[in-house]
Amino acid sequence: MDNSKDLFDVTVIGSGPAGLYGVFYARLRGMKAKILDALPELGGQLVTLYPEKYIYDVAGFPKVLAKDLARNLVEQALSLGPTVCLGAKVTTLKSREENSQRIFELVTDDGSSHLTKSVVLTAGIGAFQPKRLDVPGVIDFEGRGIHYFVNEKKIFRDKEILIVGGGDSAVDWALNLSDTAKRITLIHRRDQFRAHEESVKELLSSQVEVNTFHELKAVRGNSTVEEAVIFDNRTGAERALRVDAVIINLGFRADLGPIKEWGLEIDRGGIKVNYRMETSVVGIFAAGDIASHPGKLKLISTGFGEVATAVNFAKNLVDPGSKVFPGHSSDMQSMPSTAIGR
Ligand SMILES: Cc1cc2nc3c(=O)[nH]c(=O)nc-3n(C[C@H](O)[C@H](O)[C@H](O)COP(=O)(O)OP(=O)(O)OC[C@H]3O[C@@H](n4cnc5c(N)ncnc54)[C@H](O)[C@@H]3O)c2cc1C
Repeated sequence: MDNSKDLFDVTVIGSGPAGLYGVFYARLRGMKAKILDALPELGGQLVTLYPEKYIYDVAGFPKVLAKDLARNLVEQALSLGPTVCLGAKVTTLKSREENSQRIFELVTDDGSSHLTKSVVLTAGIGAFQPKRLDVPGVIDFEGRGIHYFVNEKKIFRDKEILIVGGGDSAVDWALNLSDTAKRITLIHRRDQFRAHEESVKELLSSQVEVNTFHELKAVRGNSTVEEAVIFDNRTGAERALRVDAVIINLGFRADLGPIKEWGLEIDRGGIKVNYRMETSVVGIFAAGDIASHPGKLKLISTGFGEVATAVNFAKNLVDPGSKVFPGHSSDMQSMPSTAIGR
């Protein structure tokens, strides 16, 4: 349970891979730590955008489903008992001096306030929204057959599905759902795909019916989606497809939104950080996709390193007697108890 009047050593904003690892690390260093996320579940892009995709480039995992990596990160993060607040989008950040100490106050969209001595910002690409289509029926059937995310493959079992889009998500989901759905049709408004060449080749030789130069004209149904009308954008010829679900994979609009108003220096669309992962405001650190520095690579693996750096410098800031270097966890006799530093 969160008591928002409590003062925390560090508050992590965003529970993607960087934030989850960061809050674990903060607890490992004995910090009183909290994690906040706007979404209703922990895991960031891993659980929201591509839970059923395999990841091949995380150290120690030759091949891991995004949702399984998220589950392990959550288990590790929660093992040391941080405070967790979900459905909490941070909109405002204020700071004040109290007894010569800087205190940050984070206000969330439900009006709660969270007090902290330091902040680690791991808000990724910001709070994201799927791109919607201004087509009759689409908005009406959201949640009743119109999908922007695939959280569970099983809800598409034996269904007839229309996928709209020509990027990696559309192509990958068409392939990934082939063993689950009864029939998949994919439409794309051009004949060039913005997806990995190998995946496109696989798609074109799969059972998926691919219609290039086709767009969605209307979605119809009663209580749920029953039909989608598509048209050839070269000739205007229309065709009605019997479908149970339409997955719209046209990408996302991500916006740092309120974070841009917090007075932090912005660089190339991200928050500028130095080698300690400090932003332009003392006490606020950033890591993961949101952090910008020369040579930045937006990868899960680089986010882990960045957030460990951020947390170790945050520890040294709130407790100047402590070392930045944490020592080796393998030198510990056992994991710290969940009560340490809380
Ligand atoms: C389809 C796809 C496939 C990918 N495959 C790979 C791969 O194979 N290997 C790889 O290394 N990377 C891959 N990536 C990239 C990887 O997922 C990201 O680099 C990683 O998720 C970034 O982690 P993060 O913790 O910085 O941010 P995120 O995962 O984006 O998490 C940020 C969190 O912050 C929250 N948030 C944002 N704003 C606020 C706010 N104001 N208040 C509260 N919470 C907020 C969001 O809700 C979100 O949960 C892929 C990405 C996509 C889209």
